[in-house]
Amino acid sequence: MASTKKTLLLTGASRGIGHATVKHFHAAEWRVVTVSRQPFDKICPWPQGEKDHIQADLNDVDHYDEIIERIRAKLNEPVSGGQLAALVNNAGISPKLPQPLAGTGSPRMGVLDTALTTWQNVFNVNLYSSALLARGLFDELKAAQGSVVNVTSIAGSKVHPFAGVAYATSKAALAALTREMAHDFGPHGVRCNAIAPGEIDTSILSPGTADIVEREIPMKRLGKPSEVAQLIYFLCTSQSSYVNGAEIHVNGGEHV
Ligand code: NAD
Repeated sequence: MASTKKTLLLTGASRGIGHATVKHFHAAEWRVVTVSRQPFDKICPWPQGEKDHIQADLNDVDHYDEIIERIRAKLNEPVSGGQLAALVNNAGISPKLPQPLAGTGSPRMGVLDTALTTWQNVFNVNLYSSALLARGLFDELKAAQGSVVNVTSIAGSKVHPFAGVAYATSKAALAALTREMAHDFGPHGVRCNAIAPGEIDTSILSPGTADIVEREIPMKRLGKPSEVAQLIYFLCTSQSSYVNGAEIHVNGGEHV
């Protein structure tokens, strides 16, 4: 008999927000299939985790078809079955200057510092993989009447002191992609939303974030990865059944 367990496919699972999201969905009894650049990370263990992990580089655009076939094969394994009820595009890269700028101490890669390969790598991982995974797995998502969540950033809507130009514009484009996907997938019963974290306590943060917290965040603290994970979960369940095309801030009020 086919399993009724719902399946989440999450990119970028090995640490930070992805790790917290895996734990949240697993605790809610979902099957979790993960895709990351690294092998399964024992720092983020859960039963079945190693077996349901796919090591793949989302910068490798020439192999997206092959990556999608590997994901499909994994989803179809009869072990724990379940339909693909959620795709969370969480993998992201945010390149920084090797040396912070003298004077400001900022590692931000502005327009003048950003070479074509950096633009390409960032857009491959942060934007194109999201569109092409959703496209490749659309039939599965439709069959489950599933949900897509794209992880954008506050840097997509305002200049950030540490986030570079390629990162910021890729996240702005991912927000726009969320709108387009909500339009295209909505008639098929697949919802698509985004969450835009501010300063979340993970390794992507730069030294100096403490100043932003003090100056810019009304709640005067970093967010916890678990606080992001619970919002992602909300957007993947029937609690949010009429939410489509939204981008929800999760930043303690940093955007105000
Ligand atoms: P992180 O660096 O801890 O995790 C990023 C994940 O992406 C890792 O699991 C990594 O393996 C994966 N990844 C990176 N490049 C990849 C590639 N080429 N192929 C496959 N996987 C790849 O970062 P995080 O803080 O947990 O961030 C998760 C998401 O949240 C990212 O999209 C990031 O832009 C976004 N975000 C984070 C913050 C924050 O404050 N931490 C703020 C705004 C947005």
